[in-house]
Amino acid sequence: MITMNNYQFSMNNNLYKSVIMILIMLIVNCSLLIAQNKLDVIVLDAGHGGKDPGTISDFSGIQEKNIVLPITMKFGKLIEEKFPGIRVIYSRTTDELIDLHLRTKIANDNKAKLFISIHANHKKKEETEKNGFEIYLLNRERMPEAIQFTMNENTILSYRQFGNDSLDRFIFASLAQNGYTRFNEYLASMIEINMLNLTQLMSRGSFQAGNWVTLGASMPSVLVETGYLSDQNDEKYLSSEKGQNEIAIALLNAFQQYKILYEIQ
Ligand SMILES: [Zn+2]
Repeated sequence: MITMNNYQFSMNNNLYKSVIMILIMLIVNCSLLIAQNKLDVIVLDAGHGGKDPGTISDFSGIQEKNIVLPITMKFGKLIEEKFPGIRVIYSRTTDELIDLHLRTKIANDNKAKLFISIHANHKKKEETEKNGFEIYLLNRERMPEAIQFTMNENTILSYRQFGNDSLDRFIFASLAQNGYTRFNEYLASMIEINMLNLTQLMSRGSFQAGNWVTLGASMPSVLVETGYLSDQNDEKYLSSEKGQNEIAIALLNAFQQYKILYEIQ
């Protein structure tokens, strides 16, 4: 027989159990969420290498591959010092040529949460003087432009790397990037702010276009063109210890701010 008091007790008991169950589910979900959003692996990609020098300075003859490697290594070392729990993977640590598709494969295979590719630029023959840094990211709304950009800029390279289905691969990879637009844009803006504050380089802005380096990366990814080797001031700065250190610190700050946003999602 259930008296009113007993009935009340069993109601309270059931309510109590339900609340506990909901709390447990919330805690489990939250910890899963935290585990999912831990920025624990990052791939840093120094552009070019080996027989691919990248762009070459008009003044000192210094090659892009030899400028972007120390910047990338310095940036990585700062992350390792500041965040011992984060695994920093370098696509190259020496003067060697790594296939473009292998660079993003390394990131995918290691379940990297972020991919940053470091380059330096050179103006085209027909262009007037250019200087400053640029940040490239993929955005689905700008896909037609991105495809055009990629096909114009990289046709020879891309066909050599990917064969005739390169356009398909590009579209596929760009769609994979679509979900990360918000992260990419935030990271790009953090890089821009910190580079402006901490380096002598001027900003040419962020460009939502495709490029073959971040293609295929299944995680937020950006490509930083740190400056123009066709500009004497940029070239001097990028070649100097001071310039490379300042860029590395700016990138570290941007990474740190990005990490906060990434992990609270
Ligand atoms: Zn490059």
